[in-house]
Amino acid sequence: MIRIETSQIGENGYTVDGEESGDLLDLAQDPVARSLGPIRYELTVEAAGSELVVRGWAETELRLRCSRCAQFFSTTARVSSFLHAYESAEHPDFLDVSDDVREDLLLEIPGFPLCQAGCKGLCARCGQDLNEGACGCVPPEGGPSPWSALDTWIATPGSRPPQGGPGRGRK
Ligand SMILES: [Zn+2]
Ligand SMILES: [Zn+2]
Repeated sequence: MIRIETSQIGENGYTVDGEESGDLLDLAQDPVARSLGPIRYELTVEAAGSELVVRGWAETELRLRCSRCAQFFSTTARVSSFLHAYESAEHPDFLDVSDDVREDLLLEIPGFPLCQAGCKGLCARCGQDLNEGACGCVPPEGGPSPWSALDTWIATPGSRPPQGGPGRGRK
């Protein structure tokens, strides 16, 4: 729980920093994202009229599953401009910003994570990870194309289409 003692707010606000367990993100059952360490944060709360305004940053290390090759990779989710306001009257003793920090960090997880910009993904036929090399399904570049046999047939003088073509009296 990321808790800020509101009684500590002075003229210049009150700043808290520290670490919180990555369990706060509640990713234990998530199929594509896993927590890899604590959440680090630095938050400053200020009284503004009837509100408490909290600004700062939070970040954590994650393991994400690549949406192309299905491999897990490490990344940092960072909220660089956390900004939320709370009613002062509802928080006379402390402010619990855990839910907002969690939600903002989860919003930083891309919908289609990629292990690298040019991830080649998996072969649709055999499932080979194409980042590790080509599989047998793909013809090597520069090899014979499926059309080359047809080109040969067209280029051979005197040859005829296999099944009774239109007889134009070639003799
Ligand atoms: Zn990938
Ligand atoms: Zn393949």
